Amino acid sequence: MATPSSNQYDVIVIGAGHNGLVCAATLARAGRSVLVVEAADQVGGMAVTREFAPGYRVSSGAHLLHQMPLALMRELNLSGHGLEFAATSLATTALGDEGTGLALACGGTPGAGWTARDAAAWPAWQGRLARFARLLHTLLAAPPPRLGTEAWTDKVALAKVGLRLRLLGRRDMREFLRIVGMNAYDLLEDEFESSLLKGALGLDAVLGTNFGPRAPGTVLTLLYRLAAESAAGPMPLALPRGGLGALSLALARAATAAGAAIRTASPVERILVADDRATGVVLASGETIGAGRVVSSADVKTTFLKLLGPEHLDTGFVRRVDHVRTSGLAAKLHLALDRLPGFRGTAPAALGGRLVVSPSLDYLERAFNPSKYGEWPSSPALEITLPTVSDPSLAPAGHHVLSAIVQYAPYAPKAGWAAEKRPFLEAILARLEAYAPGLRNSIVASELSTPEDLEREFRVPGGHWHHGDLAFDQFYMVRPVPGASQYATPLQGLYLCGASCHPGGGVMGLAGLNAARRMLDAGDTP
Ligand SMILES: Cc1cc2nc3c(=O)[nH]c(=O)nc-3n(C[C@H](O)[C@H](O)[C@H](O)COP(=O)(O)OP(=O)(O)OC[C@H]3O[C@@H](n4cnc5c(N)ncnc54)[C@H](O)[C@@H]3O)c2cc1C
Repeated sequence: MATPSSNQYDVIVIGAGHNGLVCAATLARAGRSVLVVEAADQVGGMAVTREFAPGYRVSSGAHLLHQMPLALMRELNLSGHGLEFAATSLATTALGDEGTGLALACGGTPGAGWTARDAAAWPAWQGRLARFARLLHTLLAAPPPRLGTEAWTDKVALAKVGLRLRLLGRRDMREFLRIVGMNAYDLLEDEFESSLLKGALGLDAVLGTNFGPRAPGTVLTLLYRLAAESAAGPMPLALPRGGLGALSLALARAATAAGAAIRTASPVERILVADDRATGVVLASGETIGAGRVVSSADVKTTFLKLLGPEHLDTGFVRRVDHVRTSGLAAKLHLALDRLPGFRGTAPAALGGRLVVSPSLDYLERAFNPSKYGEWPSSPALEITLPTVSDPSLAPAGHHVLSAIVQYAPYAPKAGWAAEKRPFLEAILARLEAYAPGLRNSIVASELSTPEDLEREFRVPGGHWHHGDLAFDQFYMVRPVPGASQYATPLQGLYLCGASCHPGGGVMGLAGLNAARRMLDAGDTP
């Protein structure tokens, strides 16, 4: 990566996760001199590709791209910077216990395994949720308004939220307000009869969250996912060629082409403060770099409590940051396989898509229950991809990689992961073997990353998908905490731009984009 020509920049971005890179590219394109400093050896944060066994590579955090707005990818010319897709518009297959399957084409079109009643109910459900998702997307793509200020920008932004809700029309508005605080379990039970369909949709509502499908607010997290997907255009559920790391490399090239410098293997030790404002960073190497503004894509706790230090903040703010819930519940399984597995009741063509193990809402709720008590489920819910079906470059010829998100793995199991990891891996493999007989005999190597491992690998407390729960009390105008919910922070010159902020995690780029725009719009950059 490029080296800076001086030790003073308009803006320093801490962290080259995808949000940090989007923020850097946007600021550099607006003419600011930008330096990105990343602790890891490569860019991408949780959107990265790495070798997990000799000759086998995998997207070791996020494994599917489905939330980044098409407009953003075009604006940054990511295809011109090398981004290619091995597959787009992946279909989803919900795996059933008896070797049955239910197919959902991309965009949710009913396929094999549907009941007549569910197929008839689907268009109205999908249309209604799509309208709600579009409403929510307008909220995701802009900084949230501040409450109770006299600023006209906040008043206009609040008025716009009300107007957009009103524009839904009376029936949709009522329905939106009725369901938005509901739990996914009750709503899906009301709408559909197939357990497989309800289980698969329920998994979409809770993936990456710390909730079971019966938790209030899980309709909101489902809508959130759909809202982000609605801006991703015609290709939701896509596999970048070379894994998610290839997306991050294209973002890095977009940033450097616009003039930004990126330094990897450069952990920030401390944010420099002078005269009550951020003035630069000190790296772990002891090097000091100055900047007019510092933007951190590291999570909220790392940024304020470790890199800045509580001494620069008031006690109430520090307490709020300390209380952000950051323990993740998702683990990641990577298998190197010497052949393509067969999944019972699933056509070979479906193996290039997304396979989900969440055969009913009760199964999903039961998988969640043990996590409340620091235990892991003997039958976890899984989102499985076999990226080598469309991208053979990730494994030796004829071999394959299986990547699965495992929901729900507690951050701190009672006996500790050193003792619990092996039996948990065995339970997951037993579950997989039931769907794909013979799979175990084809395993060349395996890797299970628990939330504790993800914390270490990605420098995210708790290994949390969203850098902190996406819940009503950590949402929109109060995300990550009151006082820092519009990307600006209580310290002059210090901003946030990562998944801790609105609109949260997922490889979406909107936190990075909103933060950059907020700085540019407010004339907040030098
Ligand atoms: C198991 C798992 C599976 C997931 N699957 C998907 C998926 O399939 N699709 C999807 O859309 N999302 C998925 N996600 C969520 C998604 O990966 C994240 O929400 C997203 O990547 C966060 O991006 P970010 O840029 O905000 O933060 P990060 O990617 O966390 O980037 C922050 C960066 O800051 C750096 N940093 C931290 N501290 C310092 C420091 N002191 N100095 C310098 N640098 C520092 C870190 O090294 C990191 O590179 C998944 C998450 C997990 C955990």
